[in-house]
Amino acid sequence: MASTAIAIHQPQATKRSDEVVIIGGGLAGLFCALKLAPKAVTVLAAAPIGRGASSAWAQAGIAAAVGPGDTIESHVNDTIVAGDGIVDEEIIHMMASEASDRIHDLLGYGVPFDRDLEGHLAVSREAAHSESRIVRVKGDMAGRAIMEALVASVRKTPSIRVLEGYVVEDLIVEDGRVTGVIARDKAGSGEELHRVTGSNVVMATGGIGHLYEVTTNPTEARGGGIGMAARAGARMADMEFVQFHPTAINVGKDPAPLATEALRGHGATLHNAAGERFMLPLHKDAELAPRDVVARGIFAEVKAGRGAFLDCRTAVHDFAAEFPTVFGYCTEAGIDPVTEMIPVIPAAHYFMGGIWTDINGRSSLPGFWACGECTSTGAHGANRLASNSLLEAVVFSARIAEALKAEIKPDAPENWQDGSVTTTEYLTENDHPNMVALRQTMSANLGVLRDGEGMREALNTILHLARESHSVRFDNVITTAKLIAVCALNRTESRGGHFRTDFPEEHAEWKRRTLVTLEQAHAIIPDLLEG
Ligand SMILES: Cc1cc2nc3c(=O)[nH]c(=O)nc-3n(C[C@H](O)[C@H](O)[C@H](O)COP(=O)(O)OP(=O)(O)OC[C@H]3O[C@@H](n4cnc5c(N)ncnc54)[C@H](O)[C@@H]3O)c2cc1C
Repeated sequence: MASTAIAIHQPQATKRSDEVVIIGGGLAGLFCALKLAPKAVTVLAAAPIGRGASSAWAQAGIAAAVGPGDTIESHVNDTIVAGDGIVDEEIIHMMASEASDRIHDLLGYGVPFDRDLEGHLAVSREAAHSESRIVRVKGDMAGRAIMEALVASVRKTPSIRVLEGYVVEDLIVEDGRVTGVIARDKAGSGEELHRVTGSNVVMATGGIGHLYEVTTNPTEARGGGIGMAARAGARMADMEFVQFHPTAINVGKDPAPLATEALRGHGATLHNAAGERFMLPLHKDAELAPRDVVARGIFAEVKAGRGAFLDCRTAVHDFAAEFPTVFGYCTEAGIDPVTEMIPVIPAAHYFMGGIWTDINGRSSLPGFWACGECTSTGAHGANRLASNSLLEAVVFSARIAEALKAEIKPDAPENWQDGSVTTTEYLTENDHPNMVALRQTMSANLGVLRDGEGMREALNTILHLARESHSVRFDNVITTAKLIAVCALNRTESRGGHFRTDFPEEHAEWKRRTLVTLEQAHAIIPDLLEG
């Protein structure tokens, strides 16, 4: 192994090298590493790259205004409407403008995006997009195809060293600058801690779904990277905004498999057990209403015991060919979507909050950058527009690479990849015994519908679990949960993914993003608990 990855028991002083340390092997982390070539990069990933990442599970694809008649302005406008008043317009304009270039980068790395008969990129329609603009692969295989192509490119790139099965537990901060990470091997069950240092650290650890009982996210998506950054003093943003996917397949699996929104884009409809199409009276766009509206509609039916079902029987003609992933999930669960309706339930799916970054992916801490779902760049506001997240991951990771390439002079040494460690076994993250209690309180009190009393109960539970932690990894996870609870209690209105039954309206004075450090959050907890 190269000299910068050494086994330690106690943190020790470091000599800074030029290498960039990237935490996370999903789309954001790997794209950043590829874009940084030929600069020396070490990627640490909790699971083998391409696995344990939401990126590989993405079904619909990437939003980009590349279809006939579509425009960047239209993409920007749709995003602003979905984001419910708090999208950063400069950020989304930049992101939509750079989408086409990043799609072409992905084609260059070998991603086989679907084409029409004339050879142009084929685009599909998704909820809340006013045009067809989702670039896809074989219907619902976008994530898997993108990650296969990127993993193959990473393995061939000599400047990228990959440490797989390494769970990062802490950031090293020296004189106010982030200079490296402390990681544990064997998918986090190793005895020894490893210290990996570099000139800059990029966080790309993905989302938080596993803080909730029902989620579409892989086990690794539990907010550890976000909590680690908060503990190191980084500024966080919009932590109250969690997006629930309306249509996870309700067959009691953890994580819950997803029935992509594209099915509703194709005309699939939602019904309760009595056969009523319950979205019709709730929104003019019925099943194609914004995600949060559909999630609340389904949640109400499930809670009332009427159940919710997705009817694809007439909308999808050749299910196995058009939606092979969903078809596979259904078949595995004993459901034939050609003849039967699919039972669905809302599930924690995407996090609009996270580590605050500027337009180039720079965090508030020197030497520390972040990209992908662990960030809050302002692109999504209070509610992400479908398929904008893969786009955000590639746009910001490319901008980080561009900024760092200008800073770092030497290229990677020739034998750089010799230090790569590949894990073939796939251990999922070991659960802390209090994870069950945490997930229960998050789902019960900080889910689709929230109120002050429930959120105060959740915050008290979280504070109790934090006191009992005795594990740095759980400290990270519980810190993220705490910030979600504090920010949700503090916002006394409903907006986007944050819906309070005790404050069901939007309020003009809340038409702003939430920016907070862990220290600031701690300072307001006593007042919030008093109510
Ligand atoms: C089922 C599903 C379908 C989706 N469909 C779409 C879609 O069609 N279009 C779209 O735009 N978005 C979609 N999304 C959202 C999108 O996939 C994610 O927002 C995006 O992939 C996040 O990429 P990322 O690189 O930030 O994180 P991820 O891809 O989740 O990667 C995170 C990486 O960090 C690693 N990691 C985590 N913690 C640690 C740690 N402590 N130490 C080391 N490594 C760590 C993980 O193992 C993983 O390698 C979907 C999400 C899901 C779950």
